[in-house]
Amino acid sequence: MSATIIDGKAFAAEVRGRVAAQVAAMKAAHGITPGLAVVLVGEDPASQVYVRSKGKQTVEVGMNSFEHKLDADTPEAELLALIARLNADPAVNGILVQLPVPDHIDEAKVLAAIDPAKDVDGFHISNVGLLATGQKAMVPCTPLGCLMLLRDLHGSLSGMEAVVIGRSNIVGKPMAQLLIGDSCTVTVAHSRTKDLPDVVRRADIVVAAVGRPEMVTGDWIKPGATVIDVGINRLPPAEEGAKGKLVGDVDFASVAQVAGAVTPVPGGVGPMTIACLLANTLTATARANGLAEPEGLTV
Ligand code: NDP
Repeated sequence: MSATIIDGKAFAAEVRGRVAAQVAAMKAAHGITPGLAVVLVGEDPASQVYVRSKGKQTVEVGMNSFEHKLDADTPEAELLALIARLNADPAVNGILVQLPVPDHIDEAKVLAAIDPAKDVDGFHISNVGLLATGQKAMVPCTPLGCLMLLRDLHGSLSGMEAVVIGRSNIVGKPMAQLLIGDSCTVTVAHSRTKDLPDVVRRADIVVAAVGRPEMVTGDWIKPGATVIDVGINRLPPAEEGAKGKLVGDVDFASVAQVAGAVTPVPGGVGPMTIACLLANTLTATARANGLAEPEGLTV
C-alpha cells in the first residue's frame, strides 16, 4: 500500500483564506480589525524566524500585527507589565509570548498573566480546564491544526481508535482532549509506555509528538491507519557548515508503505500551526465583540 500524503501546506493556505474572508467581512460589517500581539524576549534564532513568519501571515490575512521585541535580560516584572498593557488594549485581541522565555523568567507566571480571552496559544490554565471539560476554550494551535487535518480527511472520527505518543501540555494532552471530544477511543503513550509498537499497532489514528527523529517505523502501523507527524527534528548536517535535514518523529519512507495517509515533514502539521493561530485570533475577536463564532475555524 502507498499512503495518501496529507498536504498540510495547501490546507493551511485554505484555512488562511477562510480567515482572511471572515476578517474582511468583520471589517465591512462591524468596522473591527482583529489584532495579534507577539512578544519575543531575547534573540533565539529559531524564535526570531517564527515571530517574523507569524507577523507576516497576520498582516496577509488583513489583521493588525503588533510585535514587541525585548532584550534577553529584560526583568520579569517588565514583561508582566507589558502583558498587562496588552490585556487592557482593545486593539489587541490575541497575545502570544514566544516560548521558551529566558531562564530568569518564570514561564508559568507569564502564561497565567495573559487574559484567557486573549490567550490565542491556549496555554492559560483556564483554557486548559475549559478544553478538558468540553467547554468553549482557546485551543492550542498545533493540536487544533492536527484535528482540522483529521476531520478534513475522515469527516467523523467517532469510534476510531487513536494513539497519541507524547503527553506534553502544548501538544500531547490537548490533542488527546480534542480526540476524546470527537468521540475517539484515546490512548496517550509516553516514555514509560510498555510495548509501544504494540500499542501503536492498535490505532486507526496515530499522532506522534515526541521529538525523536524517525522513531515511529512502518512495522508499528496498522495497515490503512492515518499518521499525523508533529515532530520537527533537525538531523546533524552531512558536512560542516551545512544545515541538517529536517525530519519528523515518523520514519516517512517505511510508514508511507503501510499507512492509509501520512503527513510529511516539512509541509504537514507545521504550516497548520500558524494558520490556527490566526484562526484563534479571529475567534477571540468575535467572542470579545459578541459576534458569531467564525465558521469552520473552531472546535
Ligand atoms: P516534549 O519534549 O514536551 O514532550 C515529548 C513527549 O514525548 C513526552 O511526553 C515524552 O514522554 C515523550 N517521549 C519521549 N521519548 C519517548 C519515547 N522514546 N517513547 C515514547 N514517548 C517518548 O515535546 P513537545 O510535545 O513540545 O513536542 C514534540 C515534538 O513536536 C517536537 O519534535 C517538537 O519540535 C514538535 N512540535 C512541533 C510543532 C509544530 O508546529 N509542528 C509545535 C510544537 C512541537 P515523558 O512525558 O514520559 O517524558
